Amino acid sequence: MKRATELDAVVLGLGESGFASACHLLAAGRRVAVIDTREQPPRAAELRDRHPEIHLHTGGFDDALIARAAEVVISPGLDPRHAGIREAKRRGQPVIGEIELFARSVNAPVMAITGSNGKSTVTRMLAAMARAAGVDAMAGGNLGPPALTLLENRPDAEVFILELSSFQLESTVSLRPQVATVLNLSPDHLDRYDGMTDYAAAKARILQGAGHAVLNADDDWVRGMADDATPVSWFSARGASGAARWRLGTVDGVDWLMYDDQPLLRQRDLSVVGRHNALNALAALAMGEAAGWPLQPMCRALETFQSLPHRGERLGVHRDRLWVNDSKATNAASAAAAVAGMEQPVVLLAGGDAKGQSFEVLAAALADRGRAAVVYGRDADALARSLASSLPVECVDDLEAAVEAAERRSQPGDVVLLSPACASLDQYTDYRARGEHFRALVEALADE
Ligand code: ADP
Repeated sequence: MKRATELDAVVLGLGESGFASACHLLAAGRRVAVIDTREQPPRAAELRDRHPEIHLHTGGFDDALIARAAEVVISPGLDPRHAGIREAKRRGQPVIGEIELFARSVNAPVMAITGSNGKSTVTRMLAAMARAAGVDAMAGGNLGPPALTLLENRPDAEVFILELSSFQLESTVSLRPQVATVLNLSPDHLDRYDGMTDYAAAKARILQGAGHAVLNADDDWVRGMADDATPVSWFSARGASGAARWRLGTVDGVDWLMYDDQPLLRQRDLSVVGRHNALNALAALAMGEAAGWPLQPMCRALETFQSLPHRGERLGVHRDRLWVNDSKATNAASAAAAVAGMEQPVVLLAGGDAKGQSFEVLAAALADRGRAAVVYGRDADALARSLASSLPVECVDDLEAAVEAAERRSQPGDVVLLSPACASLDQYTDYRARGEHFRALVEALADE
């Protein structure tokens, strides 16, 4: 027998995405309540102001209230293993997320992007390519604005380009994107999963019902996600030896982005640096082509595409060192890609919350071009232990001390790279606050 419910939905978590979900449900005429465990969730005042009719419960989980709802809408920041959510599932309540609400309402095609690293970059690249190709696209999702906000602002858009995290994918069942990509998979967020297999399964959900898949042929986990029912465009950093049609290759000593044997764009003409970004560009091209966009304007868009703040962002040359802000690198694989992308010797600043990961790949990249590492924050000791076999490591308390130590340990011509390989939440509100603090510390060096 169906349970009698007084509420159509209860939204758990009042961040950006929870706020958008609550507004969307209310606009659709649904009876909705919102719960947040914080006393003062970020959007509480705005919600009370705009929609006083929505019941808002703060300062804890209200299990009785959750039990009264037909559906439970969870925010990506909430661990689905939380007792309150487990209990809801046990009662048989559907537990969904903002992207599921979006999927139920959207009529236009969706291009969906996931992976451990490079999601925001590829999303932005695709948005720039759409503009160049004359396609009226809206882009957002995980990096913001939330998918439902895009839909509310521009219900008539031709296509929606969405960056999706594994957390968002876990609570989505009916997205069926026109084109979907999994860029790569490396250990991340393992504190929230029971292992890599679980994490990979969450990412692979993006391919359910997809019209076309764009997959990384160099990544074992991603290769395993291909199925016979979905056409695949493969991309790869390997040359002609691999089976991928979208690949990096060399013609007369020059590095190109290629499609089969057709050179499309010189790597050095890409405005973003590093091999990882060349791969991001290939994935974006393959997605655009699968959507039927013309190649020429897509390539021109890549030549002028600017990297996003906090992702390999050059802060300038001070005291004869190049200072680079890569605060968005929150796992070992992304920091390793950033180190490997540098041409000069690197003094690395890393630290924060390690989320249970191993730093082996970072140690390997540093063995190649690291001069020294300065580690700080909660998991500094674990980092120091992992990196010490590759290069000299100094442990300090915080980023300010790390900048001082980096200046001491670097030589003229070096790069000082903040690519923390960890989450920032032990000392900052997010990676942006960490990157802005670094920028301020570097600017202070310039003023002295
Ligand atoms: P995401 O949105 O997945 O976090 P971003 O595009 O914001 O990814 O890039 C975050 C960081 O990941 C960058 O600062 C860079 O260090 C690294 N990175 C970007 N693209 C790749 C890639 N294809 N492979 C490995 N690391 C990458």
